Amino acid sequence: MRLILLGPPGAGKGTQAKVLMDAYGIPQLSTGDILRSAIAAQTPLGLEVKAILDRGDLVSDDIVNGIISERLDAEDCKPGFILDGFPRTIAQAESLDRMLADKGVSLDAVIEIKAETDELVKRVINRARESGTARGDDNEDVLRKRLGVYSEQTAPLVAYYADKQLLRTVDGMAPVEQVTAAIKSALGK
Ligand code: AMP
Repeated sequence: MRLILLGPPGAGKGTQAKVLMDAYGIPQLSTGDILRSAIAAQTPLGLEVKAILDRGDLVSDDIVNGIISERLDAEDCKPGFILDGFPRTIAQAESLDRMLADKGVSLDAVIEIKAETDELVKRVINRARESGTARGDDNEDVLRKRLGVYSEQTAPLVAYYADKQLLRTVDGMAPVEQVTAAIKSALGK
């Protein structure tokens, strides 16, 4: 199964991706995790993107398209994958369409996880408290910036995938297990 999880920071994409990964035996591809690993390892890519993540901006489409294109070629993606945090712009979505067409495969669904802004802020602030300083971008100022970037650059993907009849929307305000159940039911499995 080939899935995209779409939603603002704090909606629960990462949490649901991990549950679905176990349920369906397919990997979670998180561009945010890959970029944070590069930063932690101080690779040239990590050094290039650190300041961008810290201020809540998006890194360039070329960088994340390159990461995903390489990742999709790996053996573990043959049975499918769960994209978490990619695509985030229409240009990335178009690029993904081309990558998948080149491989002769297609997406099964795009799951939009919706939640209210106040709840997102609460969750992300809690995540920062629980994980200490693991994420430099999980503070209220940068979060507000990321939410703004989401509505400007990523929210247009909702219409993009609705047009392709791929969009399924679930209520991300519900408890984790209920969100998982809603996703499974939307997928019909
Ligand atoms: P995330 O863990 O998905 O919230 O991503 C954390 C940060 O990584 C974002 O705020 C961006 O700076 C960067 N990032 C992750 N995925 C993308 C993407 N698809 N396009 C551009 N920037 C990204």
